[in-house]
Amino acid sequence: MHLKKGLNFISLSLILMIGLAACAKKETAAVISNQEASLSSIDFEYNGSIFNTLVSGSNISLSRVLPYGVTKATVKNIYLAENCTANLKAGDVVNVSNNATNIVVNNTSSQKEASYQLQLAARNYSSVVDKYGLLQTLGNKIVDKNKNPVSLAGNSFFWSNNGWGGENYYKSQIVSWLALDWGTSIVRAAMGVDDNGGYLSDKLGNVTKVKTIVDAALANGLYVIIDWHTESAYKYSDEAVTFFTQMATLYGKNDNVIYEIFNEPLEISWPKVLKPYAEKVITAIRKVDPDNLIIVGTPTWSQRVDLAAADPITISNNIAYTLHFYTVYHKQGLRDVATAALKTGLPIFVTEWGPIGYTQNDPEAELWMEWCRTNMISHLAWSVNDKAEEWSIAKPGTFNLTTWEDANLTESGKLERKFIRSWIK
Ligand code: MG
Repeated sequence: MHLKKGLNFISLSLILMIGLAACAKKETAAVISNQEASLSSIDFEYNGSIFNTLVSGSNISLSRVLPYGVTKATVKNIYLAENCTANLKAGDVVNVSNNATNIVVNNTSSQKEASYQLQLAARNYSSVVDKYGLLQTLGNKIVDKNKNPVSLAGNSFFWSNNGWGGENYYKSQIVSWLALDWGTSIVRAAMGVDDNGGYLSDKLGNVTKVKTIVDAALANGLYVIIDWHTESAYKYSDEAVTFFTQMATLYGKNDNVIYEIFNEPLEISWPKVLKPYAEKVITAIRKVDPDNLIIVGTPTWSQRVDLAAADPITISNNIAYTLHFYTVYHKQGLRDVATAALKTGLPIFVTEWGPIGYTQNDPEAELWMEWCRTNMISHLAWSVNDKAEEWSIAKPGTFNLTTWEDANLTESGKLERKFIRSWIK
């Protein structure tokens, strides 16, 4: 049903685009001449990230927001009509201010002149965490310090396990780049536990990697999820208590931090196994940290939010439940399950999702993002890695880079960046 709708929409869009292109061609010949004074766009650069602009009439604004705390941005390119000059050129520095900058364009042939108002608006907060503060559950929503619903968009790192490849990305520079260039507001350190090279075999190495991500998130003013990344967490509940007690002691006073105590349970009983495990670990965390958000995995690879909705945890406040979706497998049926769980009052957090892969054309991802936006659900894309699989954001062999150009990103990476950049700020 949705595919058919999509095709109709695409067909209509194509007809419309061909029509518009034909009109634009005529317009170009008729209106734009070398006598006009105009500019079409300005690109700004900040710390290596390019920020494009939108020109609407005489108003110029950024197509995505500058990071918090930025006071100046450099002109990278200014695109002027033929024979035109302007009082702004590549290399000039523009202040971020609530006062617009006046740009005057002159046509040296016709002597015509045009004025534009450039707005690089200042932001009122030093970071996203400064803006929202400690996250809390309220009914089926995650809300900020003023009780307004919050929806965050960001990136999950890959398993931290030694020798698996994804550990190459556990670098503070990567967190900074995601914040700057992607507009990411939340990251997730996915600490492997029981598999080779995980926490059980190298506690210090894996904790160090987690701390690298958490410390970088604190420095960049991002939210960060500390994730016990295993499908068998209930077998290691004592180790989970030790680990989360350590994390809560280190970081529990920071509004940035969120605990995720069980990544993806398999098809295991919620009331008999998962809920008792969660209650044990939650009790340990709450002894140290009474208030930060805790996210609990749900059965069947964190898809059965309905089972948690039927029997939610009541021993503590501020508990949310995990939903994971991968658009190649999970579609309207899972959205219906999740919507029903929301209706019972269950707060849901998407700590992982993945697109279909190898393309930016993913109608199911568009539907899921619309669902997240409508319901104010936070989501993190899996994953920051260059492994040759559908969901990696970086192309194979780019693991030594800490900033990325478009050529370094997979189609999945570009699609995810599009969603994250345009998410609610
Ligand atoms: Mg706390």
